[in-house]
Amino acid sequence: MKKVIVIGAGIGGLSISIFLQKAGFDVHLYEKNDKVGGLCSGYYVNGHYIDHCLHWLMGTNKDSKLYELWNEVGALSNNVPIISLPTLGDFVYENQIVTFDRDLDKCEKEWLSISPVDKRAIKSFFATVRDVSSLMEYALKHPKYKKKKDLISALPNSLKVFKAMKESREDYSKKFKHPALRFALRNAQTGYNNMFFFFDLYGIFIKGNADVPSGGALYMSKRMEEKFLSLGGHLYLNSNVENIITKDNVATGIKIGNKTEYGDIVISCLDPTFTLNHLLDNKYRCVKIEKLNKNIANNPISSAYCLYVTIEGDISNISVPTCLHVKDLKVGSRKIESILIRPYGFDKEYFVKDNKTVVSIFIDQNQDDYHYFKSLSEDDYAKELNRIDKKIIEEIEKYFKNTKGKIEFLTHFSPIELNKHTNTSFGALQGFSFSSKSNFYMLRPTIKGLSNLYICSQWNRSIGGTPTAIESAKSISKEIIKKYL
Ligand SMILES: Cc1cc2nc3c(=O)[nH]c(=O)nc-3n(C[C@H](O)[C@H](O)[C@H](O)COP(=O)(O)OP(=O)(O)OC[C@H]3O[C@@H](n4cnc5c(N)ncnc54)[C@H](O)[C@@H]3O)c2cc1C
Repeated sequence: MKKVIVIGAGIGGLSISIFLQKAGFDVHLYEKNDKVGGLCSGYYVNGHYIDHCLHWLMGTNKDSKLYELWNEVGALSNNVPIISLPTLGDFVYENQIVTFDRDLDKCEKEWLSISPVDKRAIKSFFATVRDVSSLMEYALKHPKYKKKKDLISALPNSLKVFKAMKESREDYSKKFKHPALRFALRNAQTGYNNMFFFFDLYGIFIKGNADVPSGGALYMSKRMEEKFLSLGGHLYLNSNVENIITKDNVATGIKIGNKTEYGDIVISCLDPTFTLNHLLDNKYRCVKIEKLNKNIANNPISSAYCLYVTIEGDISNISVPTCLHVKDLKVGSRKIESILIRPYGFDKEYFVKDNKTVVSIFIDQNQDDYHYFKSLSEDDYAKELNRIDKKIIEEIEKYFKNTKGKIEFLTHFSPIELNKHTNTSFGALQGFSFSSKSNFYMLRPTIKGLSNLYICSQWNRSIGGTPTAIESAKSISKEIIKKYL
């Protein structure tokens, strides 16, 4: 039986471990943290549960091929309730609320009543959402479409959709005159300033394919851990891999402290930049990764500043999520214009305790913000985080008056903590993106000069995320099964 060493028990590592263990390999999975999940995880603070990740999960619709994959690894099943939130968000600008409702007809009417002069732009926006929605529905049901024309035929207005792939949300928003609509579109999605990603998200959301599994990220990754162990896999927590050992073009094993573990195949399921620079000591090259890192301004990564609080009492007046316009708030290297507030009362069993609801506040960050935080001394860093938290809480209390005096700090993290947690470059929570000045990329999962070393994670193609992690794991496991079994 071939022995496989897998480094990193995030979604990519857990998934490939399950696929290979199931296929008959002897899989040994090493994770540096004390629990599995990586970026897709959660924990308890003062008895309150914090979901560190899942705002929405692509593949929650049982008709989609992605659901089948989540089901295969034990992440989703008939026993896991899926929660469908009514909207993708309320966007509040100077007391005007703009909603991205699940019901497009209703939503279109609301937008028209907010700004009749924007009729043309509004009609065009909703037509594109409907187009992308049918494209994504087709693509998710038939991920193996062989011909481009099959894909195009699923799409009534392909030109508009493909144009949006290169358009920033900021430029797109300028098609609208009303400042609240502009604000909503500029801030419509966290990360990646690319209009296509938002059309994509909204399109799959209205089809029920981007909902939330009850219990969130911690319990989802725990179910995957249970699946792996039930198949006879070996999991080693608190095992920080320091090196991948190589000899004569072969990866022979790994080093953890003064221990060495040997295997026939090694799979590194974390950021490939870290794998190349640290685990392989810069001895091997991946030109594509080097280019992406060099051209990072045009392939930005997405990170986050997150504050977690509890709010006491009834907060049903705060929609899930609410994006609030803020003035004079600098987070990381720049002034930001919005905060995304997510009260978790929709999943009471996990997130409401003693009449207090867990609420997360999410702020977009990128590689420049990581560098900013990194440049601060320990003291200044702590002060800076306290300043940011205080200001966020003031903004929430100012708009939602019923929260005044009822907000309690739980914890916070910046790109620095994300980096420490999973070794992800710049504290990225997803992989490299693309912009009008760059293109979608895909990596070969092997590294030149090493025949049996694979890289498998969300970084295998833009734009990353949990779907990329599990889909890469599936396709790489097939390649390994074909070669070694
Ligand atoms: C705040 C936040 C919100 C998010 N929201 C969403 C969302 O709504 N929907 C969605 O789909 N995705 C979301 N994501 C992104 C999602 O979490 C990631 O895309 C996904 O989890 C990446 O999985 P991965 O396995 O590729 O990488 P990772 O999760 O980075 O896994 C890598 C693993 O390797 C381990 N590791 C690293 N170095 C070593 C070493 N030397 N030795 C041993 N182990 C090591 C790490 O600890 C980690 O467990 C969010 C993430 C964050 C942080």
